Amino acid sequence: VKRVYNFGKGKNDGDASMKSLLGGKGANLAEMCGIGLAVPPGFTITTETCRAFHNNDRTLPEGCWEDTLAALKVVEEEMGQKFGDAANPLLLSVRSGAAVSMPGMMDTVLNLGLSDNVVEGLAAKAGGRFAYDAYRRFLDMFGNVVMGVPHELFEEQLEAMKKEKGVEFDTDLSAEDMKEVAHRYKQVYVDQGTQFPDDPYDQLRASIYAVFDSWESDRAKVYRQVAKLTGLGGTAVNVQTMAFGNMGDTSATGVLFTRNPANGDKHLYGEYLMNAQGEDVVAGIRTPLHIDDMKAEMPQMYDELVRNCDLLERHYKEMQDIEFTIQEGKLFMLQCRTGKRTGMSAVKIAVAMVDEGLITPEEAVLKVDANHLDQLLHPQFEDEAAYKDRVVATGLPASPGASVGQVVFTADDAETMKASGHDVILVRKETSPEDVKGMHSSEGVVTQLGGMTSHAAVVARGWGKTCITGCGDLQIDEGNGSCRFGNTVVNEHDWISINGTTGEVIVGKCPLKQPEMVGDLGRFMHWVDQFRTMGVYTNADTPEDAAMARENGAEGIGLCRTEHMFFATEERIKTVRKMIVAQSKEDRVKALDELLPFQRSDFEGLFTAMDGLPVTIRLLDPPLHEFLPDGDMDEVVEMLARETGGKPADIAETIERLEELNPMLGFRGCRLAITYPEIAEMQARAILEAAVNVSKKGVKVQPDIMVPLIGTSAELKNQESLVRRMAEKVFEEKGTRVDYRVGTMIEIPRAALLADQVAETAEFFSFGTNDLTQMTFGYSRDDIGKFLQVYLDKGILQVDPFQVLDEEGVGQLIKMATEKGRATRPNLKVGLCGEQGGDPASVKFVYAVGLDYVSCSPFRVPIARLAAAQASV
Ligand code: ADP
Ligand code: MG
Ligand code: MG
Repeated sequence: VKRVYNFGKGKNDGDASMKSLLGGKGANLAEMCGIGLAVPPGFTITTETCRAFHNNDRTLPEGCWEDTLAALKVVEEEMGQKFGDAANPLLLSVRSGAAVSMPGMMDTVLNLGLSDNVVEGLAAKAGGRFAYDAYRRFLDMFGNVVMGVPHELFEEQLEAMKKEKGVEFDTDLSAEDMKEVAHRYKQVYVDQGTQFPDDPYDQLRASIYAVFDSWESDRAKVYRQVAKLTGLGGTAVNVQTMAFGNMGDTSATGVLFTRNPANGDKHLYGEYLMNAQGEDVVAGIRTPLHIDDMKAEMPQMYDELVRNCDLLERHYKEMQDIEFTIQEGKLFMLQCRTGKRTGMSAVKIAVAMVDEGLITPEEAVLKVDANHLDQLLHPQFEDEAAYKDRVVATGLPASPGASVGQVVFTADDAETMKASGHDVILVRKETSPEDVKGMHSSEGVVTQLGGMTSHAAVVARGWGKTCITGCGDLQIDEGNGSCRFGNTVVNEHDWISINGTTGEVIVGKCPLKQPEMVGDLGRFMHWVDQFRTMGVYTNADTPEDAAMARENGAEGIGLCRTEHMFFATEERIKTVRKMIVAQSKEDRVKALDELLPFQRSDFEGLFTAMDGLPVTIRLLDPPLHEFLPDGDMDEVVEMLARETGGKPADIAETIERLEELNPMLGFRGCRLAITYPEIAEMQARAILEAAVNVSKKGVKVQPDIMVPLIGTSAELKNQESLVRRMAEKVFEEKGTRVDYRVGTMIEIPRAALLADQVAETAEFFSFGTNDLTQMTFGYSRDDIGKFLQVYLDKGILQVDPFQVLDEEGVGQLIKMATEKGRATRPNLKVGLCGEQGGDPASVKFVYAVGLDYVSCSPFRVPIARLAAAQASV
């Protein structure tokens, strides 16, 4: 197997399509070489080698080291330099890079190949100041990353030297000073009970090992877990010629996005440092300059950079995140990748790129993902003017949006508070990879330090969390459980609001509002609907929800849960309870007659809100005891007796009768309506009377009456004829007819297995995937929490099947039932109305199966529209 791939002008083995083998960084370095950009030559050791390394008890596979040396030869020839040769030394960087970028997870070693001997040669060639600066950097990074010597110990020595020499910046230290620093750094190794390896080849080998080891480090594992990254082989190792940004005032290093990752503006967005190496930008040793300043400072370099960015954007058709270094007036590209961005930015960039002719609208639809849209649909502040007098600090607007939460100071607290149902804002000096879990649990993050590309900013933008960085007015006193924003003291668990679009921190809770789909988002969603072929309905029980869903683009109601209407007011629930404890059919019918007008007016509201669109109404589903109050039996009986006028003894007996061991497998769904037909009769009457009433007013109604929880076609037949009898009665009474359909939920595996029979009666199917998942796995939806985490931890389940459709098992039932149903009735309408209807992967799956629509909660409708469109382009 080929384990080592060269990249460079002379020999270039890889390209961007090889990300899983070469990692994202390695594949893109090869690609940039391929399109003619100046990239320091090097080579990539594959991710498969990393896997082999770990499978093989941390040893390099056979032949790998020899291949590495051969690849190094190629680089030496292209550079005309020799690794470890004092007369003409080649220096290297060793960089990690997996198929998916993991910010801050793996560490880079720069200036590798220096030793006491080699540095003298470099000094003679390129100057002592530069050579010893490179050496001490290498000693620090190598010690820290490869040998586990804490960076702070080196930092202390540098600080001490700056103090001794009375200078502020490292750049003010002389060659002699730096030589002394390097000398002291070597002593740090010795003090730590180790030794710096003088042989460059030992350095290289140890660094390769360190990169592979970092794949299995705790922080890398935590990140993969939080980000749900599975199935990655390992990290690649990129070994690359150094480009020196620290060779004086014609040298620099920087990072940038080709467009603004927060708001999408087409404008280079980033920072750079003169006379520095890469880690200086992130470490905040000196304050980096805005990339715009380069226009004046290094105009030629700036123009070239703009040209390169343009070339890369046109090549990749994507906004790029770029790292570069300028060595004595020559620009080198060190990394490019698709830039992480906020939802706002994603939509703006997608629309702009269509306008610029870079991509088609179809491609634009694929460039925005469901999470992006989710962010955009997240709340904004209702009134930004209203809180101005409560702004206590302003930092950098690192990730836009609005969040409200209680202040916590540690990632652990964030996790604990979130677990107990609190919204929190994580307030920290800065964040590190150890904090990612806590950041994930937070609504937003505020940091005192760090810029727009700091760890907090990058991670928060990736997740669409609100984030403010570089909040200089923030002072944290963790010991006291408090912090200060300017002069305002904020204690742990106090409420604050943060505006990631403006950088404002506000004390107290500011009201939030839902964003609207106008402007770029409006245009984007228009394309989405243009390419989408599958319908998107909503689950809604009230006219308000229905109207909101319609505004979000819902094309019908896929599930109206009639029982939710029963809980709407105190009066209704009392009437429902009267019906439940009725001791005779007459009493039950009397209570149902009282319920009828409520239901009818609800349905009138729904039909009117969904004028012209289908409304799928499910007949009563839950077990009756769900409508009874909780609490002490005697009290409940007494209360019901008072409410309903019934005898306590009868009521107590009724309650006992309704008690079930497995309520979800019990007396519910059509089983209720078959036992007490008068319940379904009332509901059918309410639906059809409502339909006739509003259609007389000119509303176009399409009622779909849905029978829940059938396992046999006889159950459905029973209910269907009940509904049809009632319909005829209503139409006769009213002197008008309306079209309606009778169909069923498919949520019991037996109904799926015999879907061909069911379709003889059913005019439509709707997969109730909550129950179908429950009954296919045999997991109680209400009790899965007791073991789900264990199953996820042990890898027995990859995801919660109630959130992401189990394609393999439940999906098979869906596919089969759809095929069987349509074999009986070719025009059978088939949809899905479970929780998973708003999950993009599940939407994609049911599109492939050929469902007519998915139905999801009103908030998820735009996401389902996007997922459905992406499935069809
Ligand atoms: P990360 O994945 O954390 O971004 P990188 O491998 O990109 O790590 O390295 C971090 C920084 O090190 C880069 O941004 C760049 O400034 C510097 N660097 C890496 N390789 C080189 C190189 N060959 N020449 C000069 N600087 C380099
Ligand atoms: Mg990088
Ligand atoms: Mg159900």
